[in-house]
Amino acid sequence: MSVLNNSRPAVDGATSDLLMDLHVKYIQALDTKKNDLEYWLTEHLRVNGLYWGATALHILGKPEALDQDQIVEYLVKCQHENGGFGGHIDHDPHILSTLSAVQVLITYDRLDAINVDKVVDYIVSLQNEDGSFSGDSWGETDTRFIFCAINCLSLLKRLDDKRLNLKKTIDYIVQCRNFDGGFGSSPGGESHAAQVYVCVGTLTILNALHHVDADQLGWWLSERQLKNGGLNGRPEKLEDVCYSWWVLSSLSMLKRAHWIDANKLTQFILEAQDSETGGIADRSGNIPDVFHTNFGICGLSLLRYPGLVPVDPVYCMPRHVIQRIGLTDKH
Ligand SMILES: [Zn+2]
Repeated sequence: MSVLNNSRPAVDGATSDLLMDLHVKYIQALDTKKNDLEYWLTEHLRVNGLYWGATALHILGKPEALDQDQIVEYLVKCQHENGGFGGHIDHDPHILSTLSAVQVLITYDRLDAINVDKVVDYIVSLQNEDGSFSGDSWGETDTRFIFCAINCLSLLKRLDDKRLNLKKTIDYIVQCRNFDGGFGSSPGGESHAAQVYVCVGTLTILNALHHVDADQLGWWLSERQLKNGGLNGRPEKLEDVCYSWWVLSSLSMLKRAHWIDANKLTQFILEAQDSETGGIADRSGNIPDVFHTNFGICGLSLLRYPGLVPVDPVYCMPRHVIQRIGLTDKH
């Protein structure tokens, strides 16, 4: 059953509104900024940016705001012979951009445009002897890459591939668990909310959430909320809108989303909006970007902000898409 039905906190008494139309315009304008230095500096993140923008638009209920055919045509050009996707045309393939590309194509129901078998071959080739996954053929390992691999294979319904050893993957994630209940990027790594999200997400998809002490981890996650309502990634750090997603989605999977103050977090996210250009920043007063815009909007969706399309806390995609492909029994 859905964790959303019984554990999402409801919002009431919000004092400022979500600037939905302005955020749609902000996302639409991103691709027209080709003369900006920033556009070129972030070239390696272009496919990820497409995922953040397209997801935010879907959650805002405006999936048609970007040209679907153009997006699909572009993504097809980013797929390599080995099946992986680069962050932009002619960029080396990486698991991060491969997941983003697959998420966008599934969201638009256009998986038919690519060679799925090759994507699976690519991801399987990244599994290491210890069960972890590397981000690319250069071999760097991180729990984020494990989640990307498992998430992507789950979306493609290929977790039953005989070449995989998922028991070892679960064992590896369990080794990354710390005494405080949190998870790090590798065994012995400091607990961090983003790493908690990827580890709890991986265990959720692999039906192995029993390895988590939900009360202990739920407490650690709820301690991330500061007086101003915002959430940080680990103790003594600044609050940041993107942690609205990492922390709240983890709490949702643990069925403890009600352990934080939903109204205060809602206000914190809304205050980080840019009321002139649209878009959401990491915190109030800073320059918005598409990454924080997406995770702010997805956070508000988990908080049941009125008028937003429900988001899935594991896959960070519209819930109706996850339902359409029949994955809701995963959590
Ligand atoms: Zn952030």
